[in-house]
Amino acid sequence: MKKINLGRNFAVMALVWTMLMLPFAAIGQTRISIPKNKYSIQEEIRVGRQASAEVEQQMPILNDSEATRYVQNIGQRLVSAIPPQFRHPEFQYQFKIVNASDINAFALPGGYMYINRGMIEAARNEGELAGVMAHELSHVALRHGTAQATKQSNPLNQILGIGAVLGGAILGGQTGAAIGSTIFQGYLLRYSREYETQADTLGAQIMARAGYDPRDLANVFRTIEQQSGGSRAPEFLSSHPNPANRYENINREAQLLRVSPNAIQNTRQFELVQNRLSRMPRAQSMAEIEQNAQRNPPGRTNPTANGRYENRVELPSSRTRSYTGGNFLRVNVPNNWQVFETQDSVTFAPQGAFGDNGITHGALIGVTQTRSRDLGQATEEYVNSLLQNQSNSYLRQQSNFSRTSIDGRAAYATVLSGRSPITGRTEVVNLYTTQLSNGSLLYIAMVAPQEESSRYNNAFRNLVRSAQINDR
Ligand SMILES: [Zn+2]
Repeated sequence: MKKINLGRNFAVMALVWTMLMLPFAAIGQTRISIPKNKYSIQEEIRVGRQASAEVEQQMPILNDSEATRYVQNIGQRLVSAIPPQFRHPEFQYQFKIVNASDINAFALPGGYMYINRGMIEAARNEGELAGVMAHELSHVALRHGTAQATKQSNPLNQILGIGAVLGGAILGGQTGAAIGSTIFQGYLLRYSREYETQADTLGAQIMARAGYDPRDLANVFRTIEQQSGGSRAPEFLSSHPNPANRYENINREAQLLRVSPNAIQNTRQFELVQNRLSRMPRAQSMAEIEQNAQRNPPGRTNPTANGRYENRVELPSSRTRSYTGGNFLRVNVPNNWQVFETQDSVTFAPQGAFGDNGITHGALIGVTQTRSRDLGQATEEYVNSLLQNQSNSYLRQQSNFSRTSIDGRAAYATVLSGRSPITGRTEVVNLYTTQLSNGSLLYIAMVAPQEESSRYNNAFRNLVRSAQINDR
């Protein structure tokens, strides 16, 4: 351990020495070390693109070319000012306005940035708006989303994959919950304070290079805090927690930078856009948007929605293949089952057994958050919520919970059944639950019509027996 530290110090010394050889102007600003990252740039871009598609399906994007163009211009100006060592030419920066009243902005890996209308309305001038954008841009350039995932040991992130991590990391707070599912509420990532400091420092440098005054980056955090009022912290601060002395640090960095005496601060364009927004119909808050989304859930939240139910479904193949959910979960499933992944679950089903209303044959594995940390209580809580859900209202619990084990850890098993509205036949659900080391509940639900269940027993038994949970 110590050896590594010494090595690092030595490297820092070498760098300091190198920097002394550089022209004077380059010495002043604080050096930022790019955090460790196990994801490739390609993965980063893919994940960001996927997340941006989800965001745009679930969040109202403001369709106003004038306001959007304005934000894009600021964005491009900032992008061109990213110091060369932090540039990623592969990234496709884009800037959109979300028609939501909350004071928030976020950026996804690969350069997809979203600025809430509430953020633009709250900013006191263009400098402040650019400040928030420069901060977000710095998280992107330093690849903080995937860097955070790199050091995450939370098993949930491993099973759910990088996309989910980022959903939480970047959307944060209540917004993240609205976008993902409420299951995520306990797990939403925030950027670490260390990354916040980095994004502030690089943000200040980008501001100066782009012809803005970095002190407006410091100011906008004050503006955000002041506007918060009431009990609820603004979204932005829940995903970007204040490091100590944020305001002072940014201003200190500003003193190290060459700031144009004519730095851009108030612009006519900014006022025009603010005016324009204020004349539009009131924007909803994210909470309102979430409520509406729950009332009319979009089809895409159901991963199997594209399937068609068929009367005849192929029996489970006796040949299996190994499915791995992140580094965390491994199970063997019949070869002829298709895989459907969502943020918090994976579904396996053969052709003809999946569609709008879930599966008629197959298995569903997921992770959920429960209030209770006791396995028995957590299981009960989960089963109750399952049965209360309208789409499962035909199911009844047929047996008490029996103790069993999954991969050597304590587990419960129970059976639910009822007349499936899809097949018109009695459906049997074998449900297993166990707890992960972080206290969340892992469930395995295996589904088949009663009259076929004897032919599914082997596949189900193999699946549970093969499960390997590696969350420590
Ligand atoms: Zn931040």
